[in-house]
Amino acid sequence: MDTLSHALWGYGLFGYKRYPWSAIFFGSMPDLISFGFLMLINLMTGHWHFGKPALDSLPSWIFPAYSIGHSFMVCLPIIYLVYRFNRAFAMAMLAWPFHIILDFPFHSKAFFATPIFWPLSDYKMDGVPWTHWYIWYPNILFLSILLFYRYKKNFKKFNQ
Ligand SMILES: [Zn+2]
Repeated sequence: MDTLSHALWGYGLFGYKRYPWSAIFFGSMPDLISFGFLMLINLMTGHWHFGKPALDSLPSWIFPAYSIGHSFMVCLPIIYLVYRFNRAFAMAMLAWPFHIILDFPFHSKAFFATPIFWPLSDYKMDGVPWTHWYIWYPNILFLSILLFYRYKKNFKKFNQ
């Protein structure tokens, strides 16, 4: 899914109690440390182009960076550690594995399939890219329903 959707899913599912910004951060972080960082470098060096980059134009560091952000093997032990000290913050961090869950079926092997067991296994699913309208529009629909629901609940809370 796109990074903004990830951020909003993270907020809607795990950031509505405490630490909303942390949920937004962890929801988008797997993409920020890979493609976000690349975009920043490209913007600074004047090489940024709109749209999906060609695979062979990408720097080699982006592949391990992407794998680190998109593996349960990395995120679950870290969240478990945090959970032992701060449960509410660990709750906000669940936006991270949810990012991985959402990417797993919606990336094809042609472009950054999700390496959920990296570095233990190279297993990836050849999914349907999220850029297809029949994935993208339901994503927007369900995300809107979730955010609207959160908004209504907050509205009630502040108006009692
Ligand atoms: Zn991602």
